[in-house]
Amino acid sequence: MTLSKKEIDSLLRLVGLTRESELNCEQCLALVSEFAERQLAGKSVSESLQHVEHHLSICEECREEYEALRRTLEAVEEQDG
Ligand SMILES: [Zn+2]
Repeated sequence: MTLSKKEIDSLLRLVGLTRESELNCEQCLALVSEFAERQLAGKSVSESLQHVEHHLSICEECREEYEALRRTLEAVEEQDG
């Protein structure tokens, strides 16, 4: 049986054997607010936040979380002027 890379990745995620450079959802969500704030401020992101960015590109759940957070931050910024 042949698995695509995507299938292998999702299997690895299921058994908790993701490559060490990849964050799991818990780690991603712990960093996502910092990532969103930096994105919004137009600041560069550190290496760990680049892992967040990568995780967001492959994980729909965390991406939704990020987008919700970002909308909140944008709304707060508008209120603050
Ligand atoms: Zn995730």
